Amino acid sequence: MELWYTEKHTLHSGITIKVKETLKTTTTPYQQLSIIDTQEFGKLMLLDGLVMLSEKDEFCYHEMLAHPPLYTHPLPEKVLIIGGGDGGTLREVVKHPCVKEVVLIEIDEEVINASKQFFPNIASGFSSPKAKVIVGDGIQYVKETKETYDIILIDSTDPVGPAEGLFSMDFYTSCYNLLNQEGILTVQSETPFIKSYAKIIGEVNKLFRNIFPIVNLYLTNIPTYPSGLWTFTMGSKVNHPIKNFQNNRFQADNMHLNYYNKSIHSAAFCLPNFIADLVK
Ligand code: SAM
Repeated sequence: MELWYTEKHTLHSGITIKVKETLKTTTTPYQQLSIIDTQEFGKLMLLDGLVMLSEKDEFCYHEMLAHPPLYTHPLPEKVLIIGGGDGGTLREVVKHPCVKEVVLIEIDEEVINASKQFFPNIASGFSSPKAKVIVGDGIQYVKETKETYDIILIDSTDPVGPAEGLFSMDFYTSCYNLLNQEGILTVQSETPFIKSYAKIIGEVNKLFRNIFPIVNLYLTNIPTYPSGLWTFTMGSKVNHPIKNFQNNRFQADNMHLNYYNKSIHSAAFCLPNFIADLVK
């Protein structure tokens, strides 16, 4: 008997992946959390039945959420991650020698524990002395904290449930107010190929333009995400991702990464017409 995991991306399309073994499935106070093992993509983490990450392609997302803002800011020392309870973005951020402190706010502690148990390579960032993990609501945190940051990364689920408020003017304005003078906010902003998500790209871009002087959309490929093409929206107070690319620090860090490099950094910001039209 064959077992297949199917995620419907729209009423009429989706992804289906053959399952080797179901390793965990539980209902947390926030969502349904499952870990499945598959032939093609290794282990997957699902939240409310949607792919959060797979061992095979997680690097495409985590490297591209972290490194473009980190190599646009002249000297990012303090970073805030909201969401990202699997630890993948945190793992990438702590690789930067100039980063002194990373605060990660994840609302669901069971996501952190499941990642440590089933994805030790992805969760490796949790053991960094630079990392400070807070279990809580990122929306509350940005309203109440007195801390300031050079970079804020929003590694959230889609705008439903606890993540809904992470796609709002209020929230982005609170983030802006926490950023230092050369601060950068970067958020995962869904895919252009699915109508409801394409709308979010335009809305997020519009909100960012009301708050930041420099706003750019950039792309990555993630085979297990809806359509496989994903966007990030970067809002910057001073530095432009192409004009102010931190080449000296990039060369000096000499990181061996699997997706990100200097050419990808600039190519990611080149948009096909149908995507550029979404943010015109
Ligand atoms: N890469 C994934 C994506 O693009 O959908 C996101 C992965 S990460 C697992 C998303 C995390 O955001 C989840 O663990 C979820 O619990 C967390 N989250 C959702 N809303 C949140 C909130 N208001 N505050 C903090 N974390 C939140």
